Amino acid sequence: MTNPTRFSFFPAPAEGETAYSWIARYHLMSGHASFRANTMALLGVLHGRASNEFPSFLPQLSVAADMPLSTIIHHMTPYRFYATFLPEKLCQMLNAGLSTGQTRNLQSTIGTVSNRMTPGQQMYSCRHCIKEDIDEYGFPFWHLLHQLTGVVSCSRHHELLHAVPRIQSQAMLPKSFIERPSNAMEDRYVTLIQDMHTQQNNMLSKQQCLLTYRRRLYEMKILTPQQRIRFQQLRELIGSRLKGVEVGVGAFDHLKQQLSNAQFPECLFYQAHGNHHPLKHLVLIDALFESWHEFTVEVNKIYMPLEAQPVVISERKQSIELSHKAQALLRSGGSLRAVSKEVGVSVSTLKILAQRAGIKIDCRPSKVFTGIERAIWRLLMLGEKTSDIAFKFGISVGSVEKVLSKHPELVILRKQIWFYQRRKFHRSAILTHMVHNPTVTRKLIGLALGASYIWLYKHDKEWLYVHLPPEIPRSKRFQIKGGR
Ligand SMILES: [Zn+2]
Repeated sequence: MTNPTRFSFFPAPAEGETAYSWIARYHLMSGHASFRANTMALLGVLHGRASNEFPSFLPQLSVAADMPLSTIIHHMTPYRFYATFLPEKLCQMLNAGLSTGQTRNLQSTIGTVSNRMTPGQQMYSCRHCIKEDIDEYGFPFWHLLHQLTGVVSCSRHHELLHAVPRIQSQAMLPKSFIERPSNAMEDRYVTLIQDMHTQQNNMLSKQQCLLTYRRRLYEMKILTPQQRIRFQQLRELIGSRLKGVEVGVGAFDHLKQQLSNAQFPECLFYQAHGNHHPLKHLVLIDALFESWHEFTVEVNKIYMPLEAQPVVISERKQSIELSHKAQALLRSGGSLRAVSKEVGVSVSTLKILAQRAGIKIDCRPSKVFTGIERAIWRLLMLGEKTSDIAFKFGISVGSVEKVLSKHPELVILRKQIWFYQRRKFHRSAILTHMVHNPTVTRKLIGLALGASYIWLYKHDKEWLYVHLPPEIPRSKRFQIKGGR
């Protein structure tokens, strides 16, 4: 109840909103005359850019809004975007800087300045998202996922993001501007970057990444048996993809130039101790692995003890049944690892199969699990089936349900999503049938599409009766029947 600051109220943040956006909205709602002299002063910020991607007011914001500082850092700033590829020490410095408000030198600390990929002094928005946000929340806001370096388009609406200059002393919210549709390659990079940001919660060691890159290069025959990288070939591969991003879009021009000067991707391998912008890693990962998921599967193999490596690699392509032998071993209390080795099915697949067969196994949430919890939450929010999510992440359905049980509001939301999906399906079944059979009667529709008819009758009666062909008057029913 007691708020130790001078803030009398604070709006709730929107899902995926940046810290700056949040405070800008507070300012606009509060009716303060000046963003700088009133709102920022209330937060104790007298200098520094409020709109910076690493703002200096997070500790005060945490108190004012009564939200844990770590939540703000992890979910309302691009902290995780940078932390994934940062050495541990720098990562701690970044976290400490954000936690204490000492953010002035953070960009140079993490090396984005020396990488010459300092995020432009711009903020990005998508007009379609703005419209949806206004419909859903009642206000537009800055999406964190749109502000990550390399994110040039909206992955949902396939249009380039609109850029506006960051203004030091103004509380700005995005406004709607038309941009050109984005192309497939631009969207590909954006999806990769956003997947990384959403799914990756822990740092990857340099050694771990380089080993994974080299292993894939070897498989692609770009690494010679003498362990030399055929850079010419690798540059051509990356170049063929970078070419897909139009000139002048985002930070990609700089990478294209480095590629033609043979600085990139060489730097990732030769200056392994240097600090490289996440986008460099991501562009290489796109060329070698196609998706973030594929890369993480490979990267995680590196740290798995040898005996626990999955034996069956193409498991996802086959539909695997739990063999009698595996069932018997599991039921007699055999550990997942031991049984996996014995029957040649990976631990994650085995876990799912055992779960499906109703065999109780020790499903303690793993370290990886806490890392992907947010990604799971997102899919749950989109209405994906728990079994599909479990399969995607190689965990048990029970683990996914555990995440779901932490968010009771999602249960209601998912029911609504499914309801609308079903309604859309049944409505369009009826309408399509009527288009193809212009003279069809109510009764015949009921016969041909019984399930849809009954579902709509039960849940959407008003719509059904408005859209069905008009009822035949009782007096004429006999004539029509007779006429057939
Ligand atoms: Zn959008």
